[in-house]
Amino acid sequence: MDTIDDFQLLIDLHRPNPRQGPGSEAATLLALELSGLLGRHALQIADLGCGTGASTITLAERLDGHITAVDLFPQFLDVLGDRARAHGVESRITTLAASFDALPFAPASLDAIWSEGAIYNLGFEAGLTLWRPFLKPGGVLAVSEITWLTAQRPAEIQSHWDVHYPEIDLASGKIAALERNGFTPIGYFPLPESCWLENYYQPLQARFSALLEQYDHSDAAKACVEAEEREIELYTRHRAHLSYGFYVAQKTTE
Ligand code: SAH
Repeated sequence: MDTIDDFQLLIDLHRPNPRQGPGSEAATLLALELSGLLGRHALQIADLGCGTGASTITLAERLDGHITAVDLFPQFLDVLGDRARAHGVESRITTLAASFDALPFAPASLDAIWSEGAIYNLGFEAGLTLWRPFLKPGGVLAVSEITWLTAQRPAEIQSHWDVHYPEIDLASGKIAALERNGFTPIGYFPLPESCWLENYYQPLQARFSALLEQYDHSDAAKACVEAEEREIELYTRHRAHLSYGFYVAQKTTE
């Protein structure tokens, strides 16, 4: 999946959905509680890999400040803009179509970096290293990241992730990575299954037939849907062993 057409397929598949990865409003709110940002004023926040803005809208509704919502795909940001207007929070959000490996923020300018289901695109530790300089000392990082829930895993799911994202780890490993990279962890929780099944996979599956029709049952569209089906099947069978973990941490002052 690396040609322009494949990107277009993925955009068409994911754009109408409420979110582009596992999550929930309740999880965003719990991370917000842990973050210590509620009740503070004039915050400067970046939501990196925001997609169509599931978390961005919640942050804009709950926080006093301004959010820069960054995603590679302007097609997702257009939907985010519509949602922001529908929720009356458009004046608190600026969208930026850019790659989060080359961000334009000034050093030590952000009170918080939020990123749900996206840092894996850089790799967890590479993302921590790249993003840390933009945070003020004591600034908050809130990220969700694929995480093992069990120390012993069936070979099938272990080898799948060894190939696709070898940085997957237990929460203890992710917390150690935060500590190694100049962050003090202040909270962790795993996302419940409903964040995957009800909030992400079910709306995705509901799009499959429309996508196949839109692309006249092309081989590329069929391959795209089959790949998603395999991912859903694999998750469903092994869901006791993995989830996204939500990590909230503070940039160290030294
Ligand atoms: N945070 C959203 C979307 C998660 S999916 C949600 O929880 O619903 C991951 C998102 O990261 C996608 O929208 C994808 O377009 C974006 N993305 C992937 N690589 C990126 C990059 N290099 N720079 C910016 N955004 C990127």
